[in-house]
Amino acid sequence: MSIIFLLIFFLFLQSSSSSLPPEPEPQPPNAPTVCIVGAGIGGSSVSHFLRTYSPNPIPNFNIRIFERNRFVGGRMATVNVTGHTFEAGASILHPKNFHALSYTKLLNLTVNDPSSSSSSIGIWDGKKFVFKTLSFNCKLPFVQKLVSLFNSVRIFFRYGFSILRMESFVENTVGRFLKYYESLESRPIFETVDSMLQWAGLYNLTTSTLESELADAGLSSLLIQELVTVITRINYGQSVSMSGLAGAVSLAGSGGGLWSIKGGNWQMAAGLINRSDVALNLHEEIESISFLGEHYELNSTLGHSYICEVAVVATPLDELNIQFIPPVSIPKRKLQHTHTTFVRGLLNPVYFGLNVASKIPELVGTIENPDIPFSSISVLKQHSETDKTYKVFSRQPMDDALLDRIFSVRSETIRINWGAYPHYSAPEVFAPFILDGRQLYYVNAFENAASTMETSAVAAENIARLILSRFFGQVPLSQAKSTYGSDGEGLHADL
Ligand SMILES: Cc1cc2nc3c(=O)[nH]c(=O)nc-3n(C[C@H](O)[C@H](O)[C@H](O)COP(=O)(O)OP(=O)(O)OC[C@H]3O[C@@H](n4cnc5c(N)ncnc54)[C@H](O)[C@@H]3O)c2cc1C
Repeated sequence: MSIIFLLIFFLFLQSSSSSLPPEPEPQPPNAPTVCIVGAGIGGSSVSHFLRTYSPNPIPNFNIRIFERNRFVGGRMATVNVTGHTFEAGASILHPKNFHALSYTKLLNLTVNDPSSSSSSIGIWDGKKFVFKTLSFNCKLPFVQKLVSLFNSVRIFFRYGFSILRMESFVENTVGRFLKYYESLESRPIFETVDSMLQWAGLYNLTTSTLESELADAGLSSLLIQELVTVITRINYGQSVSMSGLAGAVSLAGSGGGLWSIKGGNWQMAAGLINRSDVALNLHEEIESISFLGEHYELNSTLGHSYICEVAVVATPLDELNIQFIPPVSIPKRKLQHTHTTFVRGLLNPVYFGLNVASKIPELVGTIENPDIPFSSISVLKQHSETDKTYKVFSRQPMDDALLDRIFSVRSETIRINWGAYPHYSAPEVFAPFILDGRQLYYVNAFENAASTMETSAVAAENIARLILSRFFGQVPLSQAKSTYGSDGEGLHADL
């Protein structure tokens, strides 16, 4: 029942740093090249696993990563609000995100400890808070435990045994996902997303909605319409009509032990790239990928051409104009746009029908009601009783007039419009991992299952194994080959 209290950790604060990455090692002159488009967690993980699993002790292929931004990380990015740095995109990791955990160790990164769970949450229906937990600002562990116990009892009174059924639904799904960490010897290399999901027993969850999966699991409609809806709206900006697997992942992202990387999650991508002997072309956008018989030609908006024996797309193609010659066919997919608005100031108690701002919960979650103009509002940092930094998630942009109704004080506002993740719709139809039947791969085909840093890493690992076996005819080794230490400095800037 720690779920509700730890929801707040979804919205985390981070910081950043800068200097230049080391030059890549010289490569053998005629060695084949693997080109990767995108330097997020997906692209950087492909390079990491290619190097880690390659049985050849001396690199016998080149890796080149293209990134259209001036910095790496993609949807792992930070934002600076009045001198304080916060995660702007992907914020929290699950305790069983084992690739992210191993990256953290490998790269000597520091983990932000989950903070105490005394933050309050309220469920707003547009007119009133239908449910609120207690918050008590006291550092004494005994008092915190009492408050936590009191809140657990309140949750139980409202939702009954459905809460336990929800936890077991999530545990069951997470348990199946853990199959993707089994040894390479016992784990197949998957040529399609469908086969990868079927092997782990997760495919069926992508064929129906979260709502119907949870109803089948015996959850009450009150729990589904309130707490579950709050969670899916925060984590994916979507309702319980989203597909079941992504919905289950979203629920897992509201449990206990959530963590993040001190200084910003983007450091995972930066560190992996720095230690994978990669040529990194920053601020260079790929506009076309042509198959020329024996290799691919990648053309960038800078007018440069690159010859690559293997090409990997590690970014969602849905809103991009990369031209493929010959054309490739992928199912149409809409991205869910999440507008993230950072506000320094103070919420207006009148908007919430209250007389003082201190009575507004630290995390305001919302149910599905078209009249509510935001999905959630959470406190990222309390500078004083009357001065806080908030993160607002919404499906539509928050204009000044609207913000002026919700906030009584607003000294700084920063808006980011993310093409955030797929708009999940059951039954999901998956794009191919191998786009052309040859050596053109697509990591983000897996995003229709669920979009997280870890699922990108899991998909990337499979793509690296596909490349090693299909192009190089190599059996990937399960041992990591080298030691790490890079922190990825210089590859990042705040949004
Ligand atoms: C607001 C928000 C909150 C989220 N919260 C969480 C969370 O708490 N936990 C979690 O695990 N996940 C979360 N996610 C999801 C997570 O961010 C993504 O699933 C994950 O980061 C995807 O990584 P990726 O490498 O596959 O794609 P991306 O991070 O999108 O990387 C793709 C890269 O490719 C580059 N690129 C695109 N086109 C080109 C081109 N033509 N040429 C060169 N480069 C190109 C892009 O600039 C980008 O850097 C969140 C996402 C958002 C937006």
